[in-house]
Amino acid sequence: MRNKKKDETDFDIFIIGGGVNGAGILRDAAGSGFKCGLAEMGDFGSATSSSSTKLFHGGLRYLESYQFRLVKESLRERDILLNLMPHISWPLQFILPHNKNLRSYWILRLGLYIYDLLGGSTKLSKSVGFDLRNNPFGSCLDQSYTKALAYTDCWVEDSRLVLLNILDAEKRGAKAFSYSKVTNVQRKNGHWLVSIKSKERSFEIKTKVLINTMGPWVNSLGQVEKNKNKQVMVRLIKGSHIVVKKLFNHDNAYIFQGKDGRIIFSIPYENDFTLIGTTEVEHKEGDEVKCSDEEKDYLCNFASDYFQKKLTKKDIVWDYSGVRALYESKNVEARNASRDYSFQLEEKEGAVLLTVYGGKITTYRKLAEKAVSKITSLLKLKRTEWTSTKHLPGGGFKLEDKEKLIVGILKKYKFLNRDWAERLFKTFGTDVEKVLGKAKTKKDLGRSFGSDLTEREVLWYINQEHARCVDDLIWRRSKLGLRLSSKQVRELNSYIKKLN
Ligand SMILES: Cc1cc2nc3c(=O)[nH]c(=O)nc-3n(C[C@H](O)[C@H](O)[C@H](O)COP(=O)(O)OP(=O)(O)OC[C@H]3O[C@@H](n4cnc5c(N)ncnc54)[C@H](O)[C@@H]3O)c2cc1C
Repeated sequence: MRNKKKDETDFDIFIIGGGVNGAGILRDAAGSGFKCGLAEMGDFGSATSSSSTKLFHGGLRYLESYQFRLVKESLRERDILLNLMPHISWPLQFILPHNKNLRSYWILRLGLYIYDLLGGSTKLSKSVGFDLRNNPFGSCLDQSYTKALAYTDCWVEDSRLVLLNILDAEKRGAKAFSYSKVTNVQRKNGHWLVSIKSKERSFEIKTKVLINTMGPWVNSLGQVEKNKNKQVMVRLIKGSHIVVKKLFNHDNAYIFQGKDGRIIFSIPYENDFTLIGTTEVEHKEGDEVKCSDEEKDYLCNFASDYFQKKLTKKDIVWDYSGVRALYESKNVEARNASRDYSFQLEEKEGAVLLTVYGGKITTYRKLAEKAVSKITSLLKLKRTEWTSTKHLPGGGFKLEDKEKLIVGILKKYKFLNRDWAERLFKTFGTDVEKVLGKAKTKKDLGRSFGSDLTEREVLWYINQEHARCVDDLIWRRSKLGLRLSSKQVRELNSYIKKLN
């Protein structure tokens, strides 16, 4: 905790890996007064943290493997996080259809009762059971499902969550480098020397504390450091999702139980689509992180057991995959392996290394809080935990005021239609006006790239949000990749290239 203006390459804390855990720690550490930095080898959040099911949830199914501590912490976090970012997160009700071939209805009811109890006092609705016959939630489903249960968790735009943590950390004085790979680390005179390579330059930074939040690559730092015997066993599990055209006309999600004991979700996505996932496939480092044909068939067949519409690979408009790094989980099925996190803290010759294993999107804030507290106590410093009450950029409003704020935007910017205003609000929250400025007409926002993407928005992503290439822009800053034609993407790509 010292003068932030000191040497630009001299840090208290430096983080390798700009997924949700690295970004969360960067924000917490910056707001706690540390001079800190982060290097991410791709775009921020471009690995696992933009490939999740996008839920702040306790994880109903983790009750089956007795992960009560994790479920309780996650449910409490769900409520805290919703308050901090009500523009990119919102409550989502899940319908769990039931027929006699599935787990007993009463066991599920009991599971949800425990889930409600672990959630404590919450603004979100408690679980209920109901009859699916003559109910709009049953009309898109196979008619054998006559009963259902419903419970509520939260949706989150995962890639924007990472980005907003980075942006807020920067506002608090942190340095964050994307497309910058850490190629070597070494201890020297009570510090770490970290070598970083980007397309434009190679440079070295010095730090007292090094934090490894490299997710699926967590053990590759051991290789550069030649300290393999200290590595914790990490199990890599690939999970894929598919996106199809909208399968139902309401904004609740479904959770389906499969014959193999697994579950999948079908979630309303980007107004016109349904997101279906996930799979769990053992993954080897170096293998391609891609949704295979088998996974596509598996998800289509699984969902077709429930929906009246029978899905095939031809219905898929987009798919994505990510890799979980699960720790200490050798002899259990992937679905039962712990989703909890752990830390390894070591100090040698005065240089500190904190390695983060596992974790969920939902627990990132708590994980970051614990990580920074571990470091402050090791360094015998005092600190006040602060991240549970300070909203992320654009999130400084109450969830119940969201509609009023969207209507306000429509009034101020008369050229916007409802879908456009809503999309912008769910992206930028209360910062929408900073993006649109004094525009009176659509023309004032410059060139149009298709769908409702304008030059103003593109430049905002590039100048204010670290977007470098077309994929950053259409898949992580926004999800406009689902709407733009390949010709429009090509044109956007050449526009961005000309700027660089
Ligand atoms: C299919 C799937 C669904 C999921 N769904 C949910 C969900 O709904 N809710 C939930 O709470 N959790 C969910 N999770 C879990 C959650 O996504 C992960 O726990 C979380 O994203 C992990 O974040 P991370 O920061 O540890 O890893 P990552 O996001 O993978 O970040 C690690 C980063 O380190 C970078 N890196 C690696 N090596 C270097 C280097 N040498 N130099 C610089 N950078 C480097 C990588 O590029 C990467 O961006 C899901 C996971 C998967 C796979």
